[in-house]
Amino acid sequence: MDTAVDDRMLSTGLERQALDHVWIHSANWNDLVTGGQLKVIDHAEGSYLYDIKGRRYFDALSGLYVVNAGHGRREIAEAIGTQAAKLAYVSSATMTNKPAVLLADKLAALTPGDLNRIFFCSGGSEAVESAMKIAKQIQALRGFTDRRKIIARKGGYHGATFGAMSVSFGRNADYFAPFMEGVSFIASPNRYRNEFGIEGEAGDLRCAEVLEEEILAQGPQTVAAFIAEPVSAANGTHVPSAAYWQKIREICSRHGVLLIVDEVICGFGRLGTMFATEQFGIVPDLMTMAKGLTSGYVPMGAVAVSDAAYEVFKGTDHALAHLLTFGGQAVAAAAALANIAIMEREDLPASCRRIGATLERLLAPLAAHPTVGDIRGRGALWVLDLVQDKTTKEGFGKGAAAQKHPYIRRLSALLDERGVLTRLMGTIQLVPPLVATDAELAEVVKAIDESLSIAEQEFQFR
Ligand code: PLP
Repeated sequence: MDTAVDDRMLSTGLERQALDHVWIHSANWNDLVTGGQLKVIDHAEGSYLYDIKGRRYFDALSGLYVVNAGHGRREIAEAIGTQAAKLAYVSSATMTNKPAVLLADKLAALTPGDLNRIFFCSGGSEAVESAMKIAKQIQALRGFTDRRKIIARKGGYHGATFGAMSVSFGRNADYFAPFMEGVSFIASPNRYRNEFGIEGEAGDLRCAEVLEEEILAQGPQTVAAFIAEPVSAANGTHVPSAAYWQKIREICSRHGVLLIVDEVICGFGRLGTMFATEQFGIVPDLMTMAKGLTSGYVPMGAVAVSDAAYEVFKGTDHALAHLLTFGGQAVAAAAALANIAIMEREDLPASCRRIGATLERLLAPLAAHPTVGDIRGRGALWVLDLVQDKTTKEGFGKGAAAQKHPYIRRLSALLDERGVLTRLMGTIQLVPPLVATDAELAEVVKAIDESLSIAEQEFQFR
């Protein structure tokens, strides 16, 4: 097979260099080279990206659920420049710096309850790795040296590094097994295809009860922590009831299991409050965050730990047995502070609630499409669940397999032609920046509506 890149397919030298040297994480060779799907983005403003050929795209996934404050924020760029010129880096092992202190103080104030101790890192996977290690060390320092197991949820996603991957569903055993030991998975709330066939809130609550059953089956004295996203985007954006989360909290507390809530996607306004846990009325023992923390202007992640959990380190000479070179990097902290200042000044969580109401109204008529089985979401995190048959709810395959289905490929191409960038797997995801206007959203929903109509007609869905 000839795998050479044909110059005639490339409009600029930059594209050639991209195809020759950049490893774009999840794109395959054929799509990029022969399918012409390479996009080299040049600049961005608000909700829009512009590629090097001058084409404009609506950023319907906020990058990768990241750019909550929108693109082109000079204020964040200036904070980054000023801090880099003053102080970029000091050792994270033995000292800290002014922006990191101010950011930790701010996050302690913004996060619910007694989440007052902030461990900084560089992204979501690192936050999850760190949270699991912190949880295990806390259990050991409390005297529970056998509490090493982690329970996670089917369909959840917590990152790509070995520990985070091990607690994520869809981890690829063919390439990466063996995984971290002592991980088991329980059902995740799903009101469209509930694992137990139970509808509504009762279905959510059954998914909480199975946590207790799993803890008892594993032996409570062996379980360190339970980890889950408030609403799992990876698992199809099913918003559970507050009662689900309150039951989970109760079960964890009753059995001495630390609750890690992964707010990497939901945090920083994505669901209409600064953190999603606020809406569910719970305080986790550890909370992970990344993505919207800096809105992507520089990489950063963090773990917020409760006072109660941190207690075992207080007044002792125990240090955390975990160190990351870039923890609390000064430029990243300055970017996060500037980003949070914008979120507060412009009340982006409120803007997100407006987006939620607009999307609910605009998307409702799309339920009439023969391939739209369900429309659900909250705030600025929505999906249209695509099905081949509304009665059986049969989809187009899971994850990457769905991306290869000819109907999904066609739908992707139609959206791309209309300048809408999103991710299509078993669902169409609609996750706009929190600055998206109602007029922009109306244009995007119209593009989705048109694309569905064309593809459905071509594939004879009716
Ligand atoms: N946790 C959640 C809930 C995520 O969605 C992701 C990434 O999408 C991660 C963790 C991993 O974050 P990162 O890709 O920054 O390592």
